[in-house]
Formats: sequence, C-alpha cells, structure tokens
Amino acid sequence: MALLSIVLPSYNEEQNIAHTAQVLSELLAQEQIEYELIFVSDGSRDGTYREIQKATQQNPHIKGAEFSRNFGKEACIFAGLQLASGNAVIVMDCDLQHPPQVISRMWKLWNEGYEVVEGIKSSRGREGFLHKCFAGAFYRIMSGLIKMDMNASSDYKLLDRKVVDVLLGLPEKNTFFRALTFWAGFKTVSVEYEVQERVYGESKWSFFSLMRYAVTNATSFSTLPLQMVTVLGLVAILFSIGLAVQTLVKYLTGTAVEGFTTVILLILIIGGFIMLSLGVIGHYIARIYEEVKGRPRYIISQVTDNVQGNVTGGWKR
Ligand code: UDP
Ligand code: MG
Repeated sequence: MALLSIVLPSYNEEQNIAHTAQVLSELLAQEQIEYELIFVSDGSRDGTYREIQKATQQNPHIKGAEFSRNFGKEACIFAGLQLASGNAVIVMDCDLQHPPQVISRMWKLWNEGYEVVEGIKSSRGREGFLHKCFAGAFYRIMSGLIKMDMNASSDYKLLDRKVVDVLLGLPEKNTFFRALTFWAGFKTVSVEYEVQERVYGESKWSFFSLMRYAVTNATSFSTLPLQMVTVLGLVAILFSIGLAVQTLVKYLTGTAVEGFTTVILLILIIGGFIMLSLGVIGHYIARIYEEVKGRPRYIISQVTDNVQGNVTGGWKR
C-alpha cells in the first residue's frame, strides 16, 4: 500500500503540535490512508521539540527532528523531504491554516496519476493591509520574473516521489520551494483551499523577514535585476550623449552659461545609478559566495527514536 508522508515545518509551535497531530491522524485513519507525519522543529526556543517527542510516543506514525538553530522554513521543508519515505509527500503548515480536509482531495488526485498537486489560496485569509499590499506586489513581480503565475500559490502541495527526488538532487542551497515545483514541471493539477485562521500562537513573519524573503527569492530565481543594471547604464549613456551634444552646441554658438546645476544633477544621477548597480551586483556576488562555500542547508541536532539512519549533523542536500 502506498505511503503518504506529511512534512510539517514548526517554529515555536508548542501549542499546535499535539492538536495538529491529533487532527491529522484522525483524518488519515478515517480516510484509510497509510501515513507518517514528520515534524521538523526549526530550532524552536519553546517546548516544540518536547511536544513532538511526546506525540511520537503516543503515535508511532509520527517522526520528528530538531535543527541546531533557526534555519528558516525552506530548510525545514527540505529536511522533511529528506526524512520522508512516502510514495507521495505533502508539505503543510503545522498551524492548520492549511485545511487538512484538502489532503484527501490531493491524495485522490495523486492516485489518479497527478505528480504535483498545488494548493492554491482561494482567499488569503485575514492579513494586515500592509502585508496584503506587499504580498500582492511581491507575487506580481515574481510571476513576471519566473514567467509563471505565482499569485495565490502557497507551500501547501503534494509531490510525487519522483518530484521529491528531483528537488533533493538540486545542488543549490538557496531555494524557493514554492517556485521550484513550477520549475520542475511534471503532471500538475491544482486544488483551491481557503486559508484558515490561526488558532494558537502567532505568525512568525515580521515585515523585515518578509522583505528579506522577497529579495532572496527574487534573486535566487532570476538574474533580471543584473540585466537591469545594464539597461540603466545604457539609459544613462544615451542621456549623457544627448546632454553632451546640447552642451557642445551651446559652447560653439557662444551661449554657454555656467552650468553648475547640470553638473550637480549629473553627478547625483550617475552616482545614484552606479551605487544602485553596485548594490545589485554585490547582492548576487553574496549569493554566489554563499553557494560556493557549500555549507549544508541545515543542521539536525536530534531526531526522535523512530527515525532510521544517522541523520544528525549537516546534511549536504
Ligand atoms: N516556520 C518555520 N520557520 C520559521 C518561520 C516559520 O518553520 O522561521 C513555520 C511555522 O511554524 C509554520 C509555517 O512555517 O508552520 C508558517 O509560518 P506562519 O504560520 O508563522 O506564517 P503565516 O501563516 O503567517 O504566513
Ligand atoms: Mg500560519
């Protein structure tokens, strides 16, 4: 019988673990799906890992791992994929904002032969005004950069074993899971779901962490900003040619005035362009530097007893 693995990234979610484990195991038992739940604690500073261990003792289908520090949700997802042994793997948030009822629909679609089932948000749930504007702009830009419709996409997905193996085989460390499944292709279908309210705890994202997430993901998926530097340079050159011609004409016709304003403006504009371009290039160099160092994506400090093999330490992939 086919095994379904569910990967649940958890960061400071001690109030959610027991509840989520119970809801999911009841649902899956009822649907008669053979399953395993993999909780990956992202270096939580509360009792999340203790709760995971407790859940493991009550239900042997539950496995868990703890990171040595906070490595971020992407790292959690990849650690979960690595630990999963299922024929299909679902990634979902452990705060139940991704409604568990959708699992059976995803499972059915997988049984019909689909290899990727994308969870699409039919509504974004209740979010702050700023958050909504920011997320909207981010996804519009990302969709343009990646040339795939990213709006309403989420990390709630089912992946076939084949797709999981492809993703785990990717050499890069800076990943954007949400877009990678689009990139990987395969026979894809989507299901809509309504984002639920968070019952316990609070969202882990601040404005700045979202900002960093946006920039990191945009640059890990596209080199367009680098090409924009060239375009900016070309625009600046065209502009300067125009200005140079005008200046020369004025000089030759003897109507040249002391053009201090022009000089100051030029210095400011060109200086601005150069700084901006250097910043963009610097950002990419930083990313290359990180990848070249070849450090593991995450470090597992401990795993629950039912996890097989020696998986602690830094996993290369
Ligand atoms: N999460 C994580 N590491 C982090 C931040 C979040 O593993 O550094 C997990 C978190 O425990 C949750 C999921 O990612 O299961 C989504 O986070 P959250 O609910 O805070 O985000 P939101 O739903 O508000 O977008
Ligand atoms: Mg949430």
